[in-house]
Amino acid sequence: MGSLSEGRIDEVIDRLNRERAAEAGKMQCKVCWWVYDPEKGVDEADIEPGVPFNELPDFFTCPVCGNGKESFLPFTDPEASL
Ligand SMILES: [Zn+2]
Repeated sequence: MGSLSEGRIDEVIDRLNRERAAEAGKMQCKVCWWVYDPEKGVDEADIEPGVPFNELPDFFTCPVCGNGKESFLPFTDPEASL
């Protein structure tokens, strides 16, 4: 196996980070900016802490504005990525 150039590694890490964000990271409602934090869950929606966003039920909606899962985008914490 040859060694990857640094550029390739950055690309791979970037892609993995984005995939991981959708699997286990916070997701933000693009309508009202509410953030789903899988470590906290959602009391109002009976979502227990520890549930990744992509394992939320299909009928999950934003507890603030009521939009569905398709309205959420990966949320990157500016401090966490430093
Ligand atoms: Zn919302």
